Amino acid sequence: MKFMTLPFPRRLSLRLQLTIWYTLVFAVLISCSGFLLYIHLQNTLISTLDTALRIRSHQVADDITYEHDSIIFHNNTDELPGFDKDDDDDTMQPDNNADVNTDTLARVLDAQGRTIGVTPMFADLAVPQESIDLPLHGTPWEGNVRGANGENVRIYSRVLMEDGKTIAIIQVGASLTQLRVALASLLTDFLILAPITLCLSAIGSYILASRTFRPIDHLIRTAKRIKEGDLHQRVPLPETYDEVHRLALTLNEMLEELDHAFMRQRRFVADASHELRTPVAAIRSLTDVALLKSLTNEKQVGEKYITTLNNINTEAQRLGSLINDLLMLAKVDEGKTALQQESVRLDMLIDAVLINAQPLASERNITIKQQIAAPVVVPGDEGRLIQMIMNLVDNAIKYTHPGGCVTLQLTEETHDACLRVIDTGIGIPAEHLPHIFERFYRVDPAHSPLEGGSSGLGLSIVTWIVQAHKGSITTKSEPGSGSIFTVRLPLVESSSEIPGKGKPREKIPS
Ligand code: ADP
Repeated sequence: MKFMTLPFPRRLSLRLQLTIWYTLVFAVLISCSGFLLYIHLQNTLISTLDTALRIRSHQVADDITYEHDSIIFHNNTDELPGFDKDDDDDTMQPDNNADVNTDTLARVLDAQGRTIGVTPMFADLAVPQESIDLPLHGTPWEGNVRGANGENVRIYSRVLMEDGKTIAIIQVGASLTQLRVALASLLTDFLILAPITLCLSAIGSYILASRTFRPIDHLIRTAKRIKEGDLHQRVPLPETYDEVHRLALTLNEMLEELDHAFMRQRRFVADASHELRTPVAAIRSLTDVALLKSLTNEKQVGEKYITTLNNINTEAQRLGSLINDLLMLAKVDEGKTALQQESVRLDMLIDAVLINAQPLASERNITIKQQIAAPVVVPGDEGRLIQMIMNLVDNAIKYTHPGGCVTLQLTEETHDACLRVIDTGIGIPAEHLPHIFERFYRVDPAHSPLEGGSSGLGLSIVTWIVQAHKGSITTKSEPGSGSIFTVRLPLVESSSEIPGKGKPREKIPS
């Protein structure tokens, strides 16, 4: 998953970046809601004013009667200066105290659009012709016009009808100044309050982010203290069960793994050096003794030299196979060991291994028996599978007394090939059983058989090979009676992949 890159300088701390983000988002939210609120309030105020103008137009209409084709103003409330029957002068001028914001704004026109009554302040308004034409065509008109001093005035214009006949057009108006003042004051308040709110929210965000990151700071400080070689230290777990708690847990798990890995590595190096030192020391002492004998001018030196060289050869072979095992395990650790994936006849591999093992078994007077089902095919790496079988058979021969017996059983059980290497050897004490698959582990290093050497790596290689083939290995053992090593490997899925299927199995005599 890729995280969004914040467009801030890299050196800004995460808490500062978060604060800036929160503040930016909050600023956008405040601006949007402020703008929407302003528009909504303005529309509501104008629609309230329009309603008031409509009511006003009805009041004016109530003051008018139509008798004998002429309009008579009653002006009962005396609110309409210029409408009285006595005020014949249409050009009546407003007095000096007249104000478009406070004075009544009304005009009445006859059906031909001639003014028959107008208040003084209305006379100064630049009312468009549309406000007369539209009502005459049946649509009331609402709109803003300008006063003599540039004031904004809202006008409502409608017709007055009697018996289906248009008798007059009534126009009423109200100043928009108060509405504008209210909206301007709201805007000013918003422009003062919004930055203050933003500042407070930025401070709050920073405090919150600091609180959130405090445990992480603590983790960072502790992690810094954990130097190389001090991997047994653990970061403290916060009491809250949140992400930081999980992070601390993960760090501790990682430290535990690293600790174990380092310990394994150290032990591996120590064990490997120890194992490599033994054959080298043997070679040195053999050569030292041989050289000493040559100085004493002993007879039969040549014969003893040959014996010494044979011993040196054996030790060198042991050294070579130990180095091979070590190299293989090193590659396994590095993950560089690639396995072939082919269909392999396990029964045939066992035959091949037994041909090789037979001389050693005969030399030690050990009988090898086999109960092998055929064909048994598993997917895998032939070379590695031979190595696995060889290590198990070698161990069985190595740890069985002369006169004993080693049996190899191969069966198919459900979806697995099941190989059992059974010996009548010395067996393994129960307390050692869980450890024998560990690297360099030997039950009794002091009495390990010399033939073929004993490094304690054989079974760890077997385990790796079995696991790499998605199989499993188990052991049963009784000290003094013998051991059974059982390896289960998944069988090949399709029968068409079985090599040599249908061919009779060549039986190898044991
Ligand atoms: P080694 O090279 O010592 O045989 P392994 O890893 O193959 O190393 O075996 C580990 C130890 O397990 C051996 O040292 C031995 O003590 C014990 N072991 C393995 N196989 C057998 C067996 N068939 N019978 C008795 N002990 C065994």
